Amino acid sequence: MSDQKDALVSFLNLAADYLKDGHARPHELPVKEEKSSLPLAYMIEEAETSAPSDSWESKDSLELVAGEIAACKACLLSEKRTLAVPGEGADQPLVMVIGEGPGADEDRAGRPFVGRAGQLLDKMLLSIGLSRNKNCFIANMVKCRPPGNRDPAHDEMAACFPYLERQILLLKPALVLCVGRVAAQYLLKTNQGINALRGNFIDLEIGETVIPVLPTFHPSAVLRDESLKRPAWEDLKLLKSRLVVLFPDFGE
Ligand code: URA
Ligand code: SF4
Repeated sequence: MSDQKDALVSFLNLAADYLKDGHARPHELPVKEEKSSLPLAYMIEEAETSAPSDSWESKDSLELVAGEIAACKACLLSEKRTLAVPGEGADQPLVMVIGEGPGADEDRAGRPFVGRAGQLLDKMLLSIGLSRNKNCFIANMVKCRPPGNRDPAHDEMAACFPYLERQILLLKPALVLCVGRVAAQYLLKTNQGINALRGNFIDLEIGETVIPVLPTFHPSAVLRDESLKRPAWEDLKLLKSRLVVLFPDFGE
């Protein structure tokens, strides 16, 4: 709990020296409950009666998606990338965080949100008991860096979206936290600005799956504009309150 408090204090203060802190390593954070195991007899019956499934979906895996991303040339962003950034985190996450696309640090590391904005994101998440080590998965709309940190273009997000869809279907997060206007507008198929979108859950339908998405400010925006940290914190509290409804043990 004190890790969470530290993270909250440092997020709210946005202390000028937050880069020096390193980020607290959470322990004892809630993890999404495993599916309750069925008695053996049921499991055998289920295995015998369920139709053999060799559909593409049943064989898909996060590793497969990541491998395809690493080799992908479906859009021009492939030409300038150092490393593709498929995403990382828990494989049964409570929350999936969706950002825009890798920056320079992420392009070098092959990992999402590892630069300044990423350090703030980790603190924002930790302040409500979430972490990529335990109960979050962090991904982006595009998996390769847009040169010069420009916004990813619509056609680049469209080319990359099938990977994100597969990740969402594999991870089945209870909730999505979508950071920033660019990702939120594409994901939710809207032209509304982030100020209008943030602060409310909006259902995202992917196939048969419906997942509530909470748009909020991008941590880079919070770094640039201190006045956004208060509404960003309101959004995080809303996310936490929804998690507590879904998982009553969350945050204890
Ligand atoms: N900004 C993003 O949107 N994603 C990252 O992975 C890093 C910075
Ligand atoms: Fe492929 Fe996505 Fe990279 Fe474009 S951004 S090359 S679609 S992985």
